[in-house]
Amino acid sequence: MALPPTLKKGTDSWKIKPNLYDYQTVSKNFSWKSVKSALAGLPKGKGINIAYEAVDRHANADLAHHTAIRWISKKGETQDITYQELKAQTNRFANVLQQLKIKKGEAVFSMMGRIPELYFTALGTLKNTSIFCPLFSAFGPEPILQRMGKGKATVLVTTTKLYQRKINNILEQLPSLRYVLLTDAEKDLNEKVLSLSALMEEASHDFEIPPTDPNDPALLHFTSGTTGMPKGAVHIHNAVLTHYMTGKYVLDFQEGDIFWCTADPGWVTGTSYGIISPLLHGVTNIVAEAEFDAIQWFEILQREKINIWYTAPTAIRRLMRLEIKPKDVFDLSALRLIHSVGEPLNPEAILWAQDALGMPIHDNWWQTETGGIMISNFPSVEIRPGSMGLPLPGIEVVILKNNKEEWQEIDTPDTVGELALKVGWPSMFVAYLEEEERYKKCFYGDWYLTGDLAKVDQDGYYWFVGRSKDIIKTSGHMVGPFEVESALMEHEAVAEAAVIGIPDEVAGEIVKAFVSLNKNYIWDEKLRLELIGFCRKKLGAAVAPKVIDCIANLPKTKSGKIMRRLLKARELGLPEGDTSTLEK
Ligand code: AMP
Repeated sequence: MALPPTLKKGTDSWKIKPNLYDYQTVSKNFSWKSVKSALAGLPKGKGINIAYEAVDRHANADLAHHTAIRWISKKGETQDITYQELKAQTNRFANVLQQLKIKKGEAVFSMMGRIPELYFTALGTLKNTSIFCPLFSAFGPEPILQRMGKGKATVLVTTTKLYQRKINNILEQLPSLRYVLLTDAEKDLNEKVLSLSALMEEASHDFEIPPTDPNDPALLHFTSGTTGMPKGAVHIHNAVLTHYMTGKYVLDFQEGDIFWCTADPGWVTGTSYGIISPLLHGVTNIVAEAEFDAIQWFEILQREKINIWYTAPTAIRRLMRLEIKPKDVFDLSALRLIHSVGEPLNPEAILWAQDALGMPIHDNWWQTETGGIMISNFPSVEIRPGSMGLPLPGIEVVILKNNKEEWQEIDTPDTVGELALKVGWPSMFVAYLEEEERYKKCFYGDWYLTGDLAKVDQDGYYWFVGRSKDIIKTSGHMVGPFEVESALMEHEAVAEAAVIGIPDEVAGEIVKAFVSLNKNYIWDEKLRLELIGFCRKKLGAAVAPKVIDCIANLPKTKSGKIMRRLLKARELGLPEGDTSTLEK
């Protein structure tokens, strides 16, 4: 399929005028001060607290009876929670923490699916000025131990089932853990393992948020590095400015919007955009408990009349396998914007969406450490399929190259280097827990080094090339895995692709690809040769994979990123390292 260089956007294609209708002017006049002035701040000048901005500010005003969260259970039942009710429930949770003597700066962990208690826990913890840390509920005991140990968890909120399967046996190894609160237990199990509903019932629905300094730690998110144990990235209450600004300019929240973020609660996106950002804008946040199911997802989009949908490339690629054209089968007329994050979004996905859903997908880039979206495609700006888009207003992005231990800015367009951000945006992580050296290594002067390789074209669009450690050098050529994967994905037989470099005596490294196939295709020698020929034709022999293997399911993290590192370790018979985020 030939790719058009851009997807133009005229004002006639807008269903509603976007908040960021003029990217250049807004970027030029942008100031964080003006973002702050859109928020309320705690009464009597007592600082700024994320939960106050997300919940109480609306509950105390016009949106008190507006639905904040519409929860759809696995069985398909719905429960609406208004801003006023959310205020009461989060106050109750904060009072529970008070009663248990959990103090400011102490860590409250959660491990559960998308259920209402997750939202009460996250926001109630922030109200208490404790630190909220979500875990993937698919984690096994080892990664749980590592993270709760390192994060000095004082409380864990979870379900009885997860407690029995994963926590019961490791409790003794967690000396800092004072309480486990079970969302679904009617009675306390013992002095340490308590019924959350019983505690909530007794707790008052009034709570006065204590003074909160913008620099007070608020959130803790663990992220895996290419080496070593997981890192605990800490974010402060002032991050709310980024959550608000990106909600306004990227997700384009407007009055009355209905929003759906499909992210797992254990991933940073599940907090920044699954909880905080939509509530900051007073929109209705759809929370669907069930896991991925292509047809059910379209039913949700149709039934709930979703206006803005934030999802991830893995899910999109799975939707692309459907034999139907969703827009012909489902009424998607309420849908205004689709966004994607987490891994490269192949151009084909954008074009598929244009055809099958009636609108393109807007890719955006950020990472755990940045706390919020940093580079994005915007509703009002033309899309270059395959590009992550343009920097957010207030965010300065450059490409750096390393020259004898010094980093220098590259000013020639289309040159690959390290993606770096000018320090100082409000949601920048302030620490890796107990790893000062590892934290310091992320910075060079005023620049935060993201660990990603990218290039910028002459119009300022950023293009993802790969994680710096994934980059392949073959016969002197730098080959970005993403480029090769995108080419493979253009072949009709390929569902997903992952590309790594494997050592080669002559070439240094050669490019090896792993693919999984679409339904109705069978892996055989003919198809293997066809794919190699297909890539050679597209990419040239220097870049095309020399070897291609087929794997039914590529190893992925729970947030959907293909783990090239793991494929490489397996290929080379090396230790697999930290696989705690691997989707089983
Ligand atoms: P995490 O901290 O788990 O959210 O992972 C962040 C990493 O995911 C980034 O550093 C990138 O390597 C990758 N990533 C996130 N969004 C994108 C995107 N839109 N395109 C390409 N890679 C992405």
